Amino acid sequence: MGAIAINLQAVRERIAKAARAVGRDPGEVMLLAMSKSKPLADILAAAEAGQNAFGENYAQEAVEKISLAVNRHFAWHFTGPLQSNKTRLVAENFAWVHTIERLKIAERLSAQRPENLPPLQVCVQVNVSGEASKSGCAPDDALALCLAIASLPRLKLRGLMAIPEETDDFAAQRQPFSRLRDIVDSIRAAGVPLDTLSMGMSHDLEAAIAEGATIVRIGTAIFGQRNTL
Ligand SMILES: *Cc1c(COP(=O)(O)O)cnc(C)c1O
Repeated sequence: MGAIAINLQAVRERIAKAARAVGRDPGEVMLLAMSKSKPLADILAAAEAGQNAFGENYAQEAVEKISLAVNRHFAWHFTGPLQSNKTRLVAENFAWVHTIERLKIAERLSAQRPENLPPLQVCVQVNVSGEASKSGCAPDDALALCLAIASLPRLKLRGLMAIPEETDDFAAQRQPFSRLRDIVDSIRAAGVPLDTLSMGMSHDLEAAIAEGATIVRIGTAIFGQRNTL
């Protein structure tokens, strides 16, 4: 077995163990392999080992890989910062976007989503680390943004996403994830049906799963250190 297959197996075991530790079914947690900066060969090695959902942060880089793998039935997730001038590329090439933080971007994605594709699945990114992070909408703005997105015809709102500040302490890792879970609960209580919590990376997936993550986004633990672009 190659390194990527071995790493994938280890990550799946971590996910299963973390889920069982809190009485959750490991099948509730989807593994998104973050392949940004990695060559197509690494993606194909992961696919060989059963992985079919991949996350990318740079639209142009991703679209090159997507077009090379066009015959494979991979699910491509966009997880990077999204500017207006990249929305069309993303709307035309991805199944999911995790990083919506303002309505204007969501409106463009909805308008640009091709008719022959199913609605684009989206998550709203929320800033749960306060001033330490500049990405994501403010927690107080999440409900209004979700309500507006829910009415866009070519998007399917799935849930919330966060990238908390890094820390090694398990209890401290859980705090922002718990906050995101509370926000998702309050938005659901307001009548918006959300089923996704995209949270947890290589160093904190256990804490995220303990707080209800349904998608963990794992790069380094599968593919090794990232290549610089
Ligand atoms: C790169 C990246 C990840 C994965 O990070 P690792 O620490 O390598 O697992 C997760 N989410 C986002 C948004 C990323 O950009």
